[in-house]
Amino acid sequence: MSDAGVDAALEVLLGDDLSHVVDLCLTRGDEPGHAQAHAADGSCAFTRDGLLWAKGRNPLERQDAGAFSPLDDELANMRPPADRHSYPFAYDNAAQLFDDPRAPDVAVVHTPAHNWEERGGHRGEHGSLNVVQSRAPLIVSGAGVQKRGRVNGAARMVDVAPTIATLLDAEPAGESLLKWQDGNVLDDVIAVARPKRVVAFLCDGTNANVLYAMAAAGELPAFARLMDEGTWYGHGLIASFPSATLANHTAALTGAHPGHHGVLHNAYYDRATARQIITNAPETWHLAREELSPDVETLHEVVARSGGGFTASVNEPTDRGSGYTTFDFFRRGEVGNLQSALPSPDSIPGATKEFADRKREYGWASGADHLAVQQVTQIWSGANGNPKPRFLWVNLILPDAGNHAGGPYSDIGHAALRDTDVRLGTILDAMDWGAGETAFVVLADHGMEESDPDCKGDFDEALTKAGVTFRDEAYGFLYLDD
Ligand SMILES: [Zn+2]
Repeated sequence: MSDAGVDAALEVLLGDDLSHVVDLCLTRGDEPGHAQAHAADGSCAFTRDGLLWAKGRNPLERQDAGAFSPLDDELANMRPPADRHSYPFAYDNAAQLFDDPRAPDVAVVHTPAHNWEERGGHRGEHGSLNVVQSRAPLIVSGAGVQKRGRVNGAARMVDVAPTIATLLDAEPAGESLLKWQDGNVLDDVIAVARPKRVVAFLCDGTNANVLYAMAAAGELPAFARLMDEGTWYGHGLIASFPSATLANHTAALTGAHPGHHGVLHNAYYDRATARQIITNAPETWHLAREELSPDVETLHEVVARSGGGFTASVNEPTDRGSGYTTFDFFRRGEVGNLQSALPSPDSIPGATKEFADRKREYGWASGADHLAVQQVTQIWSGANGNPKPRFLWVNLILPDAGNHAGGPYSDIGHAALRDTDVRLGTILDAMDWGAGETAFVVLADHGMEESDPDCKGDFDEALTKAGVTFRDEAYGFLYLDD
């Protein structure tokens, strides 16, 4: 893409008419490994290691991972303007994306307030580079884990896999623990003795501050018990950019950034093959792992390489190398489609009926999570003829559905966490809370921020009106026509 083409797009995107919906724009830099960030009042160039130059206000200057935490602070500073918002680890988190040639010419970072429900968005939203949308919770607990309670710091999504690999006593792959490793082992949580097994729960779309506050208030007894008996990150677990679902499920399971593991976003475009790639959709979940780079390893593959043992992956598309995986049933054609496999909304145990009846996504996600509970209890008891797993990964999606529907501070968002706590407790009871042999990890793939229903606007429309031709994937990944 020519510089002139990018400049023409930026002129529209950073204009006054769009200042309420465009926070900043990210582009490729002048050399490999370089990237740039552009705002209306300044720009900067950087590599993964740090700043190269800034003109005017550096849009990525504020990188405090502890900003707007705990919940009271987040609520007192809702939807902060760009010059007060924070972008933790922004140089590394943004520059990594452009290491993949399929990265867009311009990645538009939406403002916190931007409500694009007319374009398929939601009241609660994520995907941006800012701390509120990027901040997931991280709790590590049980056997082999230090009991430090709240630590006053943040972890990163790419730290999850190296840390779990350490708990699983993985053999190094050359210089690092995983074949490709962008993150670090969280030494804070590792005790001397290793656990026999590790079970991880990814609670999709959970706002860390809300989870911690509800647990402290006694509303989430299962989460609270894991927090009390383990270590949790007060400033959360910071997602890689984009703070979108499959990009970060895959980052957590491989220790590699989206720009390195191959799953760039929920949807993106490969110019070289003229192919649109959609990873995060009910029709394509069972195929998403085909986009995984051969240069990275999943934790399942790490276990296989390090002495072996049965591993299982429940309701998780990033499942390469696992012995049991839900999506095998789809790949083998044993389950025709997801809808037919789900229980009807009025018969789902543990579902808040008011919301399961009222919101289709809430009922649907409750059904999927109920099936996750059933699968996990079967796997743990060996009902399928399998041994007890050395590593088990469970994807629970209701928090994302509830938070999208009403935002992270809404009744429906809170109900989703309470229902998830009931399911988590059911699973942990069935596991006898690990019986002193099991480490537990609770995380999410990204945070969630409440948009402003009155903040409307469409940059695609403005670009088209200005004569810029492009394709837009996942509403923000812009591929410009030459
Ligand atoms: Zn998600």
